[in-house]
Amino acid sequence: MTIVTVERCPNYHGEAPRQAIERALEPLGGIKAFVKPGQKVLLKPNLLRKAAPEEVVTTHPAVVKAVAELVIAAGGKVLIGDSPGAAGPHTRNNLIKLHRGCGLDRVAEETGAELALDTAQEIVSLPNGKLVKRIEIVRYALEADVIINLPKLKTHCFTLLTGAVKNLFGLVPGLIKPTYHAKFPDVNDFSTMLVDLMEFVSPALTIVDGIWGMEGDGPNGGTARELGLIIVGTNTAAVDVIMSRIMGMDPLLISTTRQSVERGLLTGDLDAIEVRGVKLSEVIQSDFVIPPGRTNAFPGWAVPFMPIAKYLLSTRPRIDRKKCVGCGDCERVCPVDTITMKNGKAQIHLSNCIRCYCCHETCTHHAIDLIRPLFQKIFV
Ligand code: SF4
Ligand code: SF4
Repeated sequence: MTIVTVERCPNYHGEAPRQAIERALEPLGGIKAFVKPGQKVLLKPNLLRKAAPEEVVTTHPAVVKAVAELVIAAGGKVLIGDSPGAAGPHTRNNLIKLHRGCGLDRVAEETGAELALDTAQEIVSLPNGKLVKRIEIVRYALEADVIINLPKLKTHCFTLLTGAVKNLFGLVPGLIKPTYHAKFPDVNDFSTMLVDLMEFVSPALTIVDGIWGMEGDGPNGGTARELGLIIVGTNTAAVDVIMSRIMGMDPLLISTTRQSVERGLLTGDLDAIEVRGVKLSEVIQSDFVIPPGRTNAFPGWAVPFMPIAKYLLSTRPRIDRKKCVGCGDCERVCPVDTITMKNGKAQIHLSNCIRCYCCHETCTHHAIDLIRPLFQKIFV
């Protein structure tokens, strides 16, 4: 039986996150069911970019701290690590700045957890990979005895959901990630790669920071939304199903969820996923703002007319020249090198743009708008 627990957590203060996580873990056997004394436990938060906790872009340090305390109390050794593309190249200095900016240096000081600064990576084989047979992964993830996935509940302009499955993409080092966007510009192919990766990484547990989430143009430029929830499960894809439902979204709109069902990694009867804790119907946000999707949200009649339909119907990035400070971060992260700098401002050459929105995800100045074409507004 697949169980996902949902517990209320009013805020990030004091003992509230830890108590909510402990309650959510109870039906799964508590933290000791996952962590044995002496084990190396990697906590994998979503550290999309250097962002203060109140920006609601990253997994809140109070949630990371609560999980670290529980793991340490169970006798585990905690390592906290992520390698976002928006932090630039996967270097020790960039990681130090990232951890400090996201408030994780204090978590390490207060709990004794270690922050992952090892930049070594390995190419691993994915024996069950459908699309990807080999992939680069940070070495510390391979050395961990247990991986606990700590995503943030957010929308995503490309995949619709920044959920449990997608959070694992952060184990692919820094600027290697955009190369996968270039290889797999179609959201379904990209999602196949994510499911290949999920099968390999196979986290023991996922604990979602849904106390404050993000709606609209997530994962970086959306609007903060208070939900007051912690969501916990052992089946990574099942956690995404429940997260989608809470966001008022059909779970099968998410390509990784559809593919997890097709590959037998998740029950095809999504109603058979047992939700413990609060009643799901009480926490569904029917007015949650979901970004209009890409190919997976196109009407059926448009499919034979790809790529023209993509051009006419897909959301496109546009630089807001007043806000752009010319930092060049978007240029560095663009997987197809279609952003250049001119007179100290970024310029997007749309003819080559694959609509991955990595630039939008990266820009700390919110200088990249996402424009919905008229055809999309009418037909999608
Ligand atoms: S659009 Fe944003 S990321 Fe790109 S150069 Fe301007 S400020 Fe930097
Ligand atoms: S311009 Fe932005 S959306 Fe287009 S390919 Fe580059 S990073 Fe992706």
